[in-house]
Formats: sequence, structure tokens, C-alpha cells
Amino acid sequence: MRVVTLASSSSGNATLVQAGATAVLVDAGLSARVLAARLRQAGCEPASLAGIVLTHEHGDHTSGALALARHYNLPLYGDGRTLAAVAANPRQASTVDERPVTMAAHPVGTSWQIGSLQITSFAVPHDAVAPCGYLIGTPAWRVCIATDCGELTDVMLAQLRQAHLLILEANHDRARLLRGPYTTSLKRRILGPTGHLANDQTAEALWTLLDDTPRWVWLAHLSRTNNTPDLAHTTVAGRLGTRRLRAARLSVLPPTGGPVWDSSQLLAAGQR
Ligand SMILES: [Zn+2]
Ligand SMILES: [Zn+2]
Repeated sequence: MRVVTLASSSSGNATLVQAGATAVLVDAGLSARVLAARLRQAGCEPASLAGIVLTHEHGDHTSGALALARHYNLPLYGDGRTLAAVAANPRQASTVDERPVTMAAHPVGTSWQIGSLQITSFAVPHDAVAPCGYLIGTPAWRVCIATDCGELTDVMLAQLRQAHLLILEANHDRARLLRGPYTTSLKRRILGPTGHLANDQTAEALWTLLDDTPRWVWLAHLSRTNNTPDLAHTTVAGRLGTRRLRAARLSVLPPTGGPVWDSSQLLAAGQR
């Protein structure tokens, strides 16, 4: 299984997940043109995707979804309420290309198969119509993607625990957000139970989750205004301590993507 991040920040999110001949894009929060270019850079022809899987309707996750789906004739997967919200968004729908897009609705909390990938969605607390995270994988390997959540619930922890690669939000540093330029109402939204995870919340969750089992952790969806890669890494690494850090390979995702996780290379390197 191979996972490539194509974008991760408050201004755009997209992750490529591949196993065998099956490839899916989780979220499509960049223009279709940029997404297609980054997919090709990652060695994936956009038309070969089996579909685009959406976590929720916010623009930083869906801005290129309809256009990419139309252009390459790809189905959109997600909860029916999320798909309806994306289709109803005039900024999404207003493209010259009006070809219909196949919408494959799967309620939050269900599992389904796309080619060789098993997809399981689970609810996350966030201010969208039906926000969810995904556990995606094969019988051998699994990635869990959980961004855009105000709190970490037991349901989320149970899904994250099943994954080898954890892509978990570390959106902001609390102090930096509070003294930063955002309006009081926006700060309240981000800090609230359906907003975004602060570095210390992510650190606490990972401390609970991680044991001596080798896992890979990608800190994701960093705010460019209210966080830095150093702050996120230092906060999480500081809480985890030496023993847990030895088992967990911790990285911070850059906003423009790049990092690749490849299970075949891990096996070759004897890191399983
Ligand atoms: Zn987001
Ligand atoms: Zn969101």
C-alpha cells in the first residue's frame, strides 16, 4: 500500500491512497488543474483513479472535487449529505463542463470496498453536515485519516488504533491562536468542540494511542497562521516521551504535500 500527501493545510487537503491497481483520492481541496499535476508527480494518472472520497464539504477539502470528477469521469464517494452539499455549492457547480458526476453515497459509520481497498468511515465532531474520517486499507496495511475535528472521541481513537499510518490533525497552537489576528468568533469556532484540534489535544491522543507497536504518524492540516511545523512537532514529541517516540515515526506534513509512505519499502527495510 502506498500513501502520498498532495496537500495538507487549512488552505487545501488531498491524499492519494493506492493498493495494487486501485487508487483513490481522499479529499480534493485544490483546483482540479493543480490536483491533476500533483497526482502525476506522484506517479498516478488522474483518469486511473477509482474515485474521490470526501470527508466533508468545506472548500479546503472539496474545491476541486466536482471539476476533477467531471474531467476524468470519476465517481465521488462520501456521506449523501456531504455529496449533496458539494453538488449544491454554486462555486463548485459553476464550471463550463456540465457532465453529470456519479455520486456514490455511503452513510457515515459504514464500510465498503473500492477495488482492493476497504473503506470505513467514522464520525468526527466538526461543523459540517456529516463530517467523517476514514480507515482505508487492505488486510495487511491500513491508514487512518482524521482531520477537521474539535475533539478526539472514543470512536476515532478505536479507528486510529487499527492503523499503521496515522494522519492526524494538529491544527493550531492554542496560545498562538489566542493572541493571533483572527476575530473572536473565529477563534471561538476553531477552539470549540466542533472546530479543529490543537497541538496539545493531538499530543494527548497520541500518548493514549501509541505503544510499542511500530507506527507512522503524520501531523496534518496545520494552520499557516496559528501553528508552525516546529511547534507542532515539539508539542507532540515532548508529550510522547522517548519510549513512545522510538516506536512512532513522527513527521509534520508540509502544506504542499510530498511525503510518501510505502509498505513495500517498509518491508524491504525490515521496519515492520
Ligand atoms: Zn479543513
Ligand atoms: Zn472543515
